[in-house]
Amino acid sequence: MTTVLPHGSNPSSQPVLPKTGERNILITSALPYCNNVPHLGTLIGCVLSADVFARYSRLRGYNTVYICGTDEYGTATEQKARAENLTPPELCQKYGEIHRQCYDWFNISFDHFGHTATPKQTEIAQEIFLRLFDQGLLEEKETEQLFCQTCDRFLADRFVEGECPHCHHPNARGDQCDVCSKLLSPTELLHPRCQVHSEITPALRSSNHLYLNLTKLTPQVEQLFNEKKETWTKNTCDTTRAWLKEGLRPRCITRDLKWGTPVPLERFHDKVFYVWFDAPIGYLSITAEYTDQWRKWWQQTNDTTVKLYQFLGKDNIPFHTIIFPATLIGADDNYNLLDYCSTTEYINYEGGKFSKSQGTGVFGDQVQQTGIPSYVWRFYLLNSRPEKSDSIFTWDDFQAKNNNELLANIGNYCHRGISFTNRFFDHQVPDSDSSLHPDDQRLFDDLSSLQTEYIQALEQVHLKEGLKIVLKFSTRCNKYFQDSQVWALVKEESTRPRASQICYWIIQGIANISLLLEPFLPGFCAQLRAQLNCPVWKLTETFTPLLEPGHRIGESKPLVQKITDDQITTWREQFGGTKNKE
Ligand SMILES: [Zn+2]
Ligand SMILES: [Zn+2]
Repeated sequence: MTTVLPHGSNPSSQPVLPKTGERNILITSALPYCNNVPHLGTLIGCVLSADVFARYSRLRGYNTVYICGTDEYGTATEQKARAENLTPPELCQKYGEIHRQCYDWFNISFDHFGHTATPKQTEIAQEIFLRLFDQGLLEEKETEQLFCQTCDRFLADRFVEGECPHCHHPNARGDQCDVCSKLLSPTELLHPRCQVHSEITPALRSSNHLYLNLTKLTPQVEQLFNEKKETWTKNTCDTTRAWLKEGLRPRCITRDLKWGTPVPLERFHDKVFYVWFDAPIGYLSITAEYTDQWRKWWQQTNDTTVKLYQFLGKDNIPFHTIIFPATLIGADDNYNLLDYCSTTEYINYEGGKFSKSQGTGVFGDQVQQTGIPSYVWRFYLLNSRPEKSDSIFTWDDFQAKNNNELLANIGNYCHRGISFTNRFFDHQVPDSDSSLHPDDQRLFDDLSSLQTEYIQALEQVHLKEGLKIVLKFSTRCNKYFQDSQVWALVKEESTRPRASQICYWIIQGIANISLLLEPFLPGFCAQLRAQLNCPVWKLTETFTPLLEPGHRIGESKPLVQKITDDQITTWREQFGGTKNKE
């Protein structure tokens, strides 16, 4: 059997680069804003989903790189910095560290986790901008902007508040209304006011801005959609189709702000790029921080092919399927475009939305306080991954998934199987007979077809389905264990040879679970492998026994504990949940 290194990410200090003749997989997850603490929705939507795929991809032996980092520019960051009496870089430093710790705890295997406020970002974003400019894809327009005389600046996006023109919510932000979700521009707000000086009614002043002409790029964006839609999730396609149907309009890519990437044209020296033009370029600049040879990952060459997989939440779809590809297509420099797009819906917290300010919900930095291992959280989140509609996190569901699935199915099977082998076969994988017993043949056939289904699901990035198949795999192994009555057979001299065969297959089931579950629960699998005393094998398309007869295995220890009613009552009090009364 081929083994691969336990991973995390690439163990060598050399960056991974695309290789000729290999399957080169570039994975990104949406760059989390670094002005807040990530909650469970951020985790499942972006980093955790991408991590599962990255781990799967490495396990198959694909040449893989997984890039992410915090998104630092934008008015939301500036605003939060002001509220915390910090400069934007200080704020980014503070929250960037919280993000890092949280992703570490969740065992996320980035090859590089960077950030966007860097010289590389300036260099690459400006390069792309200038190419768009040279291609005649940028147009200048004079616009009326709100200006606060007390602040002495234009009020972009979130620096202005007012009444929503659609639903009349009195406190809509300049970029979006939180109540009706409509995207807004500040001048559309009724009764606008400066976000800092609420008593000030800002005045209109003219300012010149640059617009990316998406209308001109429509045919190429449509072509991309038609070529790739089979490998984009349904929600990705629906939103993209709706945007294309409505028609792409030129979109303003500059802002009158200081915190951002400067626009490299003399007449626009006091402006920066709009964060939604700038942020996706962060994928490139973060890769450039990882390796000088970042262009090998992001630009097509004659001798290597790279497939780009992007993971995001549904609010980010148009930026990834329309605006960012249009930017790269327009820059006309052979950029690799999105191949697979996996978009999640939202996860809500029982009885409401996650809100740090209101103390509702479990956040990335708090999950550790529950004392529950991160692999249980990963199991819950991946098992409830909101793929087709929003889902709700409830403590009852968390308890049920742990107790009835992870513990009752996988945890118990592995623990029982290893304990049984240790007790009756002296810590050794027993001998199997070369001729397969019909029960073993049936088990072999069933596990083989489940493994095939698993590979098909994961190749298509159907992560939740992949995890469900591992559960089915374990259910099938459990049934084999139970039906065999091996604990009775092992005690009689005449049936002991049969017990030995059964035990051989029980152990192979556990070894294979440690492999199939690895992308989902690497922490769990590492401990399971320590008990089995085995390496990480390369994941093949077909089911194979992994451990030789005579292989010595270690001590067995339960890896999953039951979650009690008292525990969830405590957490509900601590994190402000509401039990659903039906
Ligand atoms: Zn003001
Ligand atoms: Zn509204």
